[in-house]
Amino acid sequence: MIYAIISDVHSNIEALTAVLIEIKKSKIEEIFFLGDAVGYGPNPDECTKTVNDHCSAMILGNHDMAVLGLLDIEFFNVYAQQAIQWTVQKMNVNNKLLLKKFDMLRKISQKDIFLVHSTPKKPEMWAYIYTLWDAAENFHYFDTKICFVGHSHKPFIFEKKPSGEIVSHKERVSLSEGSRYLVNVGSVGQPRDRDHRACYCIVNEGAIFFRRVEYDIKMTQNKMLKYGLPSYLIERLSYGI
Ligand code: ZN
Repeated sequence: MIYAIISDVHSNIEALTAVLIEIKKSKIEEIFFLGDAVGYGPNPDECTKTVNDHCSAMILGNHDMAVLGLLDIEFFNVYAQQAIQWTVQKMNVNNKLLLKKFDMLRKISQKDIFLVHSTPKKPEMWAYIYTLWDAAENFHYFDTKICFVGHSHKPFIFEKKPSGEIVSHKERVSLSEGSRYLVNVGSVGQPRDRDHRACYCIVNEGAIFFRRVEYDIKMTQNKMLKYGLPSYLIERLSYGI
């Protein structure tokens, strides 16, 4: 069975729609969402609803928590804070209630996968996994074959071999018997790996790999401009930073 994992949509409905169109054209049967439906971009209502309609598991991100008033915005930089405050005003109550039903983490035993936004070690601390050391520590905090995370907006795959050795892969890895994997699926709505295209992850019987999709960035940026969202957030979409 082929499934997709998407994360960090950040109110970017153009990017989300482009990804879902690609997914529909493929043999993907199920989609999981890893958090941050909202924050930064111009369409929080549409993105929350679309994620809820298309995904079979939904995880909460730190921006989602902040918009729901469950996380202090002091933890965010000034641009993120402005976008969160704008989102709080903009979003309708029904979609906030939808968002509130998303989970902090989910283990899906039948697929042998674990889903969390930041880290399996302490999901509510909103730490990042960047290095082999970060990965090595976090492998102790899930017992499934694969753990998927989002949060940094930078896709990666860490593989822990049966010998205990941990290696990293950039774009793809073939699944092997005794190995376990820690995967950042990248960001749909605000990629930060110097590739402006929407990013998501696919898993089939034999491999884990990423897909990139072009979307109408100009349209998203024009809406952000119209709503008075910070120019830094508007410009960074063009560069994937
Ligand atoms: Zn995010």
